[in-house]
Amino acid sequence: MPAAIDLTGSVAVVTGVCGRLGAVWVDALLGAGADVVGLDVRDTVGPELRAVLDAHDPKRFLPLVADVTDTAGLRRALDACLERAGEPAVLVNNAGIDSPPSAEGTGWRFEDIPDEVSGGVLDVNAQGTLRMCQVFGSRMARNGRGSIVNIGSMYGGLAPDPRMYEHLPVDPPFLKPPAYGMSKAGVAALTRYLAALWGPAGVRVNTLSPGGVLGAQDPVFREKFDAKVPLRRMARPEDLTGPLLFLASDLSRYVTGTELAVDGGFGCW
Ligand code: NAD
Repeated sequence: MPAAIDLTGSVAVVTGVCGRLGAVWVDALLGAGADVVGLDVRDTVGPELRAVLDAHDPKRFLPLVADVTDTAGLRRALDACLERAGEPAVLVNNAGIDSPPSAEGTGWRFEDIPDEVSGGVLDVNAQGTLRMCQVFGSRMARNGRGSIVNIGSMYGGLAPDPRMYEHLPVDPPFLKPPAYGMSKAGVAALTRYLAALWGPAGVRVNTLSPGGVLGAQDPVFREKFDAKVPLRRMARPEDLTGPLLFLASDLSRYVTGTELAVDGGFGCW
């Protein structure tokens, strides 16, 4: 019989907790018995996280304001985690940004994408994950146990299809900038690097790469997207919790360095 998922007594650290998926990961981890330390650059708990916290014992959640682009701040967050929650055993690197729209609110012409736009996305998504692993992951390696789940994206391995955005009434036509996929490919590369480095120390490192998650997308986009997914729909938040708990827990004790696509089969094309 496989072990049941029981993270009671473990401390799980999650970044980007104030966003949509952050609340999903927090809910799953609290539900599995872990105490959760939630980092975000924002200090406002959004409605998704508020609903999750209201459903659990608030004493098992420690919110910390921290920016994944600021290593000194992350060191202070580790100190607070150790003092107020305990040694981290699970780390979910979820904080991420998409590329901001151009000043006109449209996409970017490829040749016009400013350095700071690409650099900003890489800094948060890829280097932010690296910094979290340097600060929190190194502590886990020193302790000789732990599981790190880096949140990637199917766009780390696939190109966005420009035809998905053709219906949008903007000129120039919307183009999803490349830095997002570049950053997520970097996250998957970092996962493999650290799995090799820290496997002997007892820390596993994996990437969980969601496909499109149902949100406020326009109906035409959703129709086009659903038609491309072999399972014929976008992900619902609850589709992601099982894969997260699998990677976070001992159920995946012989799995490291891998990328688990949770994309309804989008990546099959
Ligand atoms: P979101 O924008 O709702 O939440 C992201 C959170 O990260 C926000 O609370 C934000 O404040 C925080 N954040 C941003 N910059 C930060 C920084 N420098 N330091 C600390 N926190 C910071 O996004 P989401 O939809 O919840 O996505 C979460 C993760 O999942 C991201 O890494 C994203 O790339 C990935 N993902 C999302 C989808 C999707 O469809 N939603 C699909 C694939 C992958």
